Amino acid sequence: MSIGKLIAISAPSGCGKTTIAKAILAKHPEILFSVSATTRPIRNGEVNGKDYFFLTKLEFENRIKDGGLVEWEEIYGNYYGTLKSEIHKALDNGRSMMFDVDVKGALSIRRNFPKDSVLVFIEPPDMEVLIERLKNRKTENAETLKRRLDRVPMELEQGSQFDFKVVNDDLDAAIAQVDEIVKKIL
Ligand code: ADP
Ligand code: 5GP
Repeated sequence: MSIGKLIAISAPSGCGKTTIAKAILAKHPEILFSVSATTRPIRNGEVNGKDYFFLTKLEFENRIKDGGLVEWEEIYGNYYGTLKSEIHKALDNGRSMMFDVDVKGALSIRRNFPKDSVLVFIEPPDMEVLIERLKNRKTENAETLKRRLDRVPMELEQGSQFDFKVVNDDLDAAIAQVDEIVKKIL
């Protein structure tokens, strides 16, 4: 059976990747969303099984041992990983799927599925705007904010390997650009 496209969206934390991914999924109900597993605490408004599968460290480590993950990374002191059971919803049904993963996760997806993956990197207009957005989101304390910002240089460097780059300055314009990419590749 032919498979759809595996579209990975990555960005430094606070760039707007989740906001953009949700807008694209709302425009394209034919695209599935890969619900990742994580050990980070649930945020206000998040739903277990929809935004993430929120696992304990032990549960996550058991998933690693069982071979239940396509890829996983330790990010900001927590585990995040793509479940085989999620990706099979696309692979087994010829559907396209979107992944909200970090840069390393996106590159792992490309290594596993070189012909079928498309990597989109969302860039901030500049660091000041990024810091402002992260602070305004009100999900981080001083320590977790610092951890997220410390990772930005590595993320911007790895972003050079992505297939497409979109600067998220004006949100509607960024969504429109990602939408153009998605329409082109589907
Ligand atoms: P990420 O998933 O990349 O960490 P989010 O989607 O959570 O980022 O966005 C971070 C914050 O910035 C959210 O509060 C979101 O509403 C806001 N945001 C996203 N894009 C823009 C934009 N273009 N202009 C202003 N605020 C934005
Ligand atoms: P957040 O805590 O802000 O939801 O996510 C932190 C980072 O983890 C983001 O870069 C997000 O894309 C990434 N992430 C979420 N799920 C996965 C996953 O399954 N695998 C990898 N490698 N990264 C993930």
